[in-house]
Amino acid sequence: MGALDEALRIELDALHAAGLYRRPRISASPQGPRMRIDGRDVRVFCSNDYLGLAQHPELREALCHAVERYGVGSGSAHLVNGHSELHAECEQRLAEFTGRERALLFSTGYMANLAVATALCTRQDAVFQDRLNHASLIDGARLSGARLQRYRHGDLEQLERLLERRRDARRRLIMVDGVFSMDGDRADLPGLARLAQRNQAWLMVDDAHGFGVLGETGAGSCEQDGLDPHQVPILMATLGKAVGVFGAFVAGSEALIETLIQRGRSYLFTTAAPPALSAAVMRSLDLISGEGWRREKLRSLITRFREGAAAKGIPLMDSPTAIQPLPVGDNRRALNLSERLFEQGFLVTAIRPPTVPEGTARLRVTLSAAHEAEDIDALLEALAPLLEEAT
Ligand SMILES: *Cc1c(COP(=O)(O)O)cnc(C)c1O
Repeated sequence: MGALDEALRIELDALHAAGLYRRPRISASPQGPRMRIDGRDVRVFCSNDYLGLAQHPELREALCHAVERYGVGSGSAHLVNGHSELHAECEQRLAEFTGRERALLFSTGYMANLAVATALCTRQDAVFQDRLNHASLIDGARLSGARLQRYRHGDLEQLERLLERRRDARRRLIMVDGVFSMDGDRADLPGLARLAQRNQAWLMVDDAHGFGVLGETGAGSCEQDGLDPHQVPILMATLGKAVGVFGAFVAGSEALIETLIQRGRSYLFTTAAPPALSAAVMRSLDLISGEGWRREKLRSLITRFREGAAAKGIPLMDSPTAIQPLPVGDNRRALNLSERLFEQGFLVTAIRPPTVPEGTARLRVTLSAAHEAEDIDALLEALAPLLEEAT
């Protein structure tokens, strides 16, 4: 072994010993409630494909048609010659769907969040974030050089004190998950909007887990809470979760979008996503807004899961969304439970630090409109005896 490998092995072995080692399982089927994974047929309870659209025939057809016409690769960044008419049309649709002046596509949500923080903030500014925000929001703020102030989960009183303390900052930007990705609870967006207004701060919502799922038409957390673009001037959402495709977008005013185009380094210096993906996204938006039954079905499955768990004495975290985590605590116990479930034909991932704080490992169950009541019941049946065992 060379010196490099020797040094790395020590770290990798330590991760193993702490129950923190990760490895990707290999799937051999499309996304769905049943998949073939690592050579086994399993019921899946960990996908973010909340509406079951990732393998929808109409999305496949839209994608294939667009590939026939536009080919596969985009060839370059948006500002060179990679910006297809499909991208432009999709941005227009996303702006209309979210009720904002404009929208801008990004290759991933991670990159969209880096762009927002770095295009809007510098060392002279302050960024305020909930402790449980997604890593990409934290990384964006760090990269911007702004002063990063994290407040306790959902603690708006602490946030207000921090906002006051940083009154000297040139700009104050609050960034928050609309739905917290590992806990499933929702941010108090009306409260945050009031706070932002009162303190002349800007509010950005990352709606990766609300877009498509929440709100009357699926426009997300802001629609659900009746908040307008003045209250939430910066909206980001991803296209690889409920939308079932890939990518992300930021929606807001003309000036915001122009600023991201001019100064967002993760927009400027990366290849545009394949244009055909935009065709699939637009078809997905038709299904999301036109077929509300998926959201209704998902809601009824969430209720069934929560009521079933309560009846069996299975502890759940307090979440109203498709993300329904079971608190476990210990890393190795979470991993062990996940392995045992897999052996019984259920894929539920163990979420451990650094994805969640130390000592709060959990099984992150996610539900989808593609599940049936029988899937939910089967999972609960398998969970109850496993959780009773002392491990
Ligand atoms: C998944 C996720 C992202 C990242 O989006 P990708 O398109 O997967 O890069 C950003 N924010 C939140 C809250 C997420 O859950």
